[in-house]
Amino acid sequence: MSSTLETTVVNGLGLAQDIRKELAERIAGHVAAGRRAPCLAVVLVGDDPGSASYIKGKRRACKRIGMDSVEHDLSAAATQDDLLARVGALNRDDTIDGILVQLPLPRQISANAVAEAVDPGKDVDGLHPLNAGRMLLGESCFLPCTPRGILEILRRCEIPLEGARAVVVGRSAIVGKPVSLLLLRENATVTMCHSRTRDLAQRCREADVLVVAVGSPRLVKGDWIKPGAAVIDVGASSVDGEPVGDVDTEGVMGIAKIVTPHRRGVGPLTITMLLANTLDAFEAGLA
Ligand code: NAP
Repeated sequence: MSSTLETTVVNGLGLAQDIRKELAERIAGHVAAGRRAPCLAVVLVGDDPGSASYIKGKRRACKRIGMDSVEHDLSAAATQDDLLARVGALNRDDTIDGILVQLPLPRQISANAVAEAVDPGKDVDGLHPLNAGRMLLGESCFLPCTPRGILEILRRCEIPLEGARAVVVGRSAIVGKPVSLLLLRENATVTMCHSRTRDLAQRCREADVLVVAVGSPRLVKGDWIKPGAAVIDVGASSVDGEPVGDVDTEGVMGIAKIVTPHRRGVGPLTITMLLANTLDAFEAGLA
């Protein structure tokens, strides 16, 4: 006889709102003490509608917690030098605490060159090589927003990580690699999988904690899940205009302990960690 577990679908938006309330209280405390509000600068190059909508969401999220934000728009024809000059000016501006350059960038601009140009103390996306290196060394640094958000979900859902078998599918510099390092830092035993991994399903079946960041609709099926596993679906794709994740959410119900939905799962935590990093940058400047 097979038994089924009750699977909790994580309310990422609810968790994000709890954290944003905490951030808003910290900001209100600074303003009450006569300090200015922290400020995030967002830089958009070109007119990609997806990027514009992400930026709108980020600025709205800033406003709701009492954080200032400024937007710098450059045309799609902007050169790398144009963008580096703008980033340099924001680095020197003492009223700016965090700088986010929205990705993807037009082909004539190297995302790596831009990441390296941002002042590491304002690198609230956690993409500067200095912050990446500090993360590797286990030192204090800005963590990339999505990995930090994933760890926050696991912590708030009380998923034990020490000694747990964690499997991360996807090895990007933005999600897969950093989340693997953070899980390792929490003393999980981490396996990293990618497009060349043999027998991916079997690797996933070994996971107490499974993080999937691929961008392949419903890649992970219910029978890939170990009973009681925590499943974090980072994927954000669309099929016939409908948003879908990397996990067959319906298929894992009754098997996983928790699963993040592809909507209102990891996404709200990503934005929230951008706000948290910006507030951390502001507070570091007060010290
Ligand atoms: P990415 O840079 O395209 O990396 C995808 C990774 O998946 C690569 O490491 C690739 O392996 C691996 N992969 C591709 N096909 C695979 C397969 N069939 N089996 C196993 N691994 C496979 O993507 P990303 O930036 O990490 O983003 C991943 C997904 O997360 C996307 O859908 C993105 O939109 C979403 N995302 C969501 C948020 C959020 O806040 N919700 C934030 C960031 C990203 P190789 O290295 O071998 O090519």
